[in-house]
Amino acid sequence: MSRSGREPAPKQRGSRAPSLTLKAGRERSLKLRHPWIFSGAIDRVDGDPPSGSTISVLAADGTPLARAAYSPSSQIRARVWSFESDVLIDALFIAAAVVRAAASRETLFDADHTAARIAHGESDGLPGVVADRYGDVVVVALLSAGAELWRSTIVDAFAALPGVRCVYERSDAEVRTLEGLPSRAGVAWGALPPSMTMREDGLEYVVDPVAGQKTGFYLDQRDNRRLVRTLARGRRVLNAFCYTGGFTLAALAGGATGVVSIDSSGEALAQGRANLALNPALAANHNQWIEADAFADLRRLRNEGATFDLIVLDPPKFAPTAAHAERASRAYKDVNLLALKLLAPGGQLATFSCSGGVSSDLFQKIVAGAALDANATVQIQRRLGPSPDHPVALNFPEGDYLKGLLLRKS
Ligand code: SAH
Repeated sequence: MSRSGREPAPKQRGSRAPSLTLKAGRERSLKLRHPWIFSGAIDRVDGDPPSGSTISVLAADGTPLARAAYSPSSQIRARVWSFESDVLIDALFIAAAVVRAAASRETLFDADHTAARIAHGESDGLPGVVADRYGDVVVVALLSAGAELWRSTIVDAFAALPGVRCVYERSDAEVRTLEGLPSRAGVAWGALPPSMTMREDGLEYVVDPVAGQKTGFYLDQRDNRRLVRTLARGRRVLNAFCYTGGFTLAALAGGATGVVSIDSSGEALAQGRANLALNPALAANHNQWIEADAFADLRRLRNEGATFDLIVLDPPKFAPTAAHAERASRAYKDVNLLALKLLAPGGQLATFSCSGGVSSDLFQKIVAGAALDANATVQIQRRLGPSPDHPVALNFPEGDYLKGLLLRKS
């Protein structure tokens, strides 16, 4: 398979390279090194650049500000590769960024930890490129026109990392349609082993990059699963939105007396059971997997008078953007209200939101509203975020999607 990605030569009008000129006064966010250029900020595009190709970004007075990937169908019309306006964006530039991102995760791998996110999009200087490494397999998602154009370079760069045997592509997220890109999934390089497992904190998990959600596992919660493990001794635990049981296994490893795990996906639960079977030391007597809508099932548990000492709430993204924030707020409030009612006095709730459209401040307000309605006195013991392999670039607050609170009910 080719190891040399090439950018198609951009069509040029006259002698000018393709460029995008901002409206007067719209260069501020570029100067703050924010990597997105929205369609509304653009005065004109010259040179008829093809989708994904590199353009120069110019201020209204013609001052060069950045080199960016052009995305004609997206509201995010361009994503910056570099704020050095004279840098050449070529295969070497892209491959070097991949290698840098992967190298910054090296210390996260050891005998007990065989998986981590090795590229996290804009925050790693790789707009639209997400990659998770599970042992010798890299699962990559290309989510922007620029990432798509450099596909073979990016795949080859991951393939060239030491020990990698397969690069599997999961470019099938919905955001691809906003970029005018078709959905694509399959082996991009090498051969996918028939089954895959990974280790996190010494626990074994099956990973299914083909049929699993996202790239197969929610690696962003690694540190929070460890936290739950330290809190679980002697506790009756409820894990709502459990997916394949990451928090369930962590709680059992920490000495929970029993865990009730709820998810609406039967496949995820089947894999949760398989994960438990992979770790015979965890065989728990009081372990229950429930396929249900978590909202309905939390209500049922409440009606039956159940209580728990430790609850994990890790729902899916209710608000992908700020426009969905209001409806999402109601959903977060409902589910947190139900959880707080199910929590025994002195119990703890680890509650999360992975909605980019809900800020930490808003999330705290929603949870405070839920506590008020539940008539519960609640303290924040800790603010939670993603593991360090999901960094947030300081100039890219949109990257700050996962927020959480560890709460204690009096
Ligand atoms: N905590 C998990 C990740 C959770 S992802 C981990 O550590 O791996 C969110 C999960 O919510 C997904 O598994 C999805 O299937 C599930 N889900 C989505 N809507 C749901 C609903 N209404 N009720 C129950 N589960 C739901």
